[in-house]
Amino acid sequence: PLAPSRPVPRPGVLAIEAYVPGKSGAPGLAKVHKLSSNETPLGPSPKAVAAMRAEAAKLELYPDGTATRLREAIATRYGLDPARIVCGAGSDELLSFLAYAYLGPGDEGIFTEHGFLVYRIAILAAGGTPVVVKERDLRADVDALLAAVTARTKIVYLANPNNPTGTYLPFDEVRRLQAGLPPHVLLVLDGAYAEYVRANDYSAGLDLVLEANNVVMTRTFSKIHGLAALRVGWMVAPSEVADAVNRIRGPFNLSGAGIAAGAAAIADDAHVAAAVAHNDTWLATMTDAVRDLGLAVTPSVANFILVHFPAEPGRSAAEADAFLTTRGVITRRVSSYGLPDALRVTIGGEEANRAFLDALTAFVRGET
Ligand code: PMP
Repeated sequence: PLAPSRPVPRPGVLAIEAYVPGKSGAPGLAKVHKLSSNETPLGPSPKAVAAMRAEAAKLELYPDGTATRLREAIATRYGLDPARIVCGAGSDELLSFLAYAYLGPGDEGIFTEHGFLVYRIAILAAGGTPVVVKERDLRADVDALLAAVTARTKIVYLANPNNPTGTYLPFDEVRRLQAGLPPHVLLVLDGAYAEYVRANDYSAGLDLVLEANNVVMTRTFSKIHGLAALRVGWMVAPSEVADAVNRIRGPFNLSGAGIAAGAAAIADDAHVAAAVAHNDTWLATMTDAVRDLGLAVTPSVANFILVHFPAEPGRSAAEADAFLTTRGVITRRVSSYGLPDALRVTIGGEEANRAFLDALTAFVRGET
């Protein structure tokens, strides 16, 4: 057969649907309340900003390719061995690297029905086959996950709390999942929203990583630490997994600014505590207020809520989204997560939260 007349991506690449980020503005409106990307209303720690600024004096120098300062700061904060920590340009980079290191053509990667879209992209980009498992009440179903494992399964991704549902899987269930997996299957616990969780069993996830040799936890500086623009994430993993990912990652995958800001942010416990306290208050207030309007809200332990709308003309999620946008309130449609009748709404600052509740009230009352 003739060779193609132009470069052609290898099989599978064009089957990937590119990630489409949420809206960040509204046409014609100068000021919007952006509640679409689970960003923190408190912003980053001032110490992180100062550390980032100091990096401006040495932009011509390559950053430390091993991000040692950041790994040590994380290790100190959580009592971990820095050798088992790998940092990424956002945790999504690490989620991808794990797929590239452990999956190939013919292999399967498992995630839940309403799991983070990056899992699918990472598995397909690695040449593997995504296997999507049904949830129960918008929550991971451990029995169904275990039933989906085959001889070709190499990786299981589980976000806890999950995005976009905000639901939490108690740790005994996570442990049951790990215990039921064949030892060669890598379990990736995605803790992007870990800091918001108030359940007293959450830190057991880190313990499981330390005990088992097939469990990884990924974390991010994008959410509670307010450094999304700098792209900083990390994972703690068994040494062999950390070694594999270190072989795959780019030599300087984090910026100097990201390393410095992350190290300062993780040491600022007071800033994190303020963000958690703010979230606790407003998560409850927003959930109750939306329910009072007659709309269902999935119980969330994260910094966002999933609001369900009736699939009826005049009341639908699509129409609510359009209406809220005209009022300058930007939320996230989650049709791409298989949830066409819901909107995901970030817990923002007081002004944004009130603007959202006012606009939603007007929508429910049929105002135009
Ligand atoms: N995991 C989950 C569940 C997320 O919601 C996100 C952010 N949307 C990420 C990972 C990736 O975040 P980042 O790459 O900014 O660390």
